[in-house]
Amino acid sequence: MAFTLPDLPYPKNALEPHIDAKTMEIHHDKHHAGYVAKANAALEGTKFADMKPEDVARNLGDVSADKRTAVRNNIGGHVNHSLFWTVMAPPSKGGGGKPSGDLAAAIDKAFGSFDKFKEEFANAAANRFGSGWAWLCVKDGGVKVCSTANQDSPLMAGAIGDEAGCGGTPILGLDVWEHAYYLNYQNKRPDYISAFWNVVNWDQVGKNFAKAKA
Ligand code: MN
Repeated sequence: MAFTLPDLPYPKNALEPHIDAKTMEIHHDKHHAGYVAKANAALEGTKFADMKPEDVARNLGDVSADKRTAVRNNIGGHVNHSLFWTVMAPPSKGGGGKPSGDLAAAIDKAFGSFDKFKEEFANAAANRFGSGWAWLCVKDGGVKVCSTANQDSPLMAGAIGDEAGCGGTPILGLDVWEHAYYLNYQNKRPDYISAFWNVVNWDQVGKNFAKAKA
């Protein structure tokens, strides 16, 4: 079974004006598709080709050394983007707002308040030098903010150690590669980070939280 590109859960223009349709088109149809194709090329004929991409990331250390960099980059890219699309929604379909229930309680416990969490997450996204991601992860029963470079995932902690950020289970991620924002925001990454809060699908992040805690 080959890895497959998931459909976007909304039309490409659904996140406008916060994320523009052209960026979504290139990002999903070209960048994410490219990670999927290269992950398939690297893992075709191996046992990893039949695993869930998240499990490949968790077991990156078992991938043969000659394929490991390609898998790190491309399974990482596949896993990270697959999460990214689902943690956003148009404001008219529930994007924006605040977390609720157990997730809201865990955020308050870890950061003091939702606003403090947003500040820490935005700093992680803004301070990532070059390409990478900011994450909200479940770790040791609570939530943590961290960031990774390139397409590294916190799920890869077993193979790449500290480069996997906090090593928890990501439940919210923000792509800060220039390909994620440059057409609309050019060099103004902080404006893109601010706009992201208008499209976060907290209902989905809450489900991810419950699943990661189970
Ligand atoms: Mn990307």
